[in-house]
Amino acid sequence: MPTCKYCGAEREPSELIRHERPGVLLVHCPECQRLLGRYRRHGDDPDTDTLEH
Ligand SMILES: [Zn+2]
Repeated sequence: MPTCKYCGAEREPSELIRHERPGVLLVHCPECQRLLGRYRRHGDDPDTDTLEH
């Protein structure tokens, strides 16, 4: 289960906010709206980073 590193909320993957962009899926915490991860749509290589908005 993903845990938000900003507010500590634990959420099911289905509860996370997803924003689809060309070639990439951005996942945000439903509690604090921070960016939790960025997933490339092609390649299936989970890649989390600390990109700030
Ligand atoms: Zn959060």
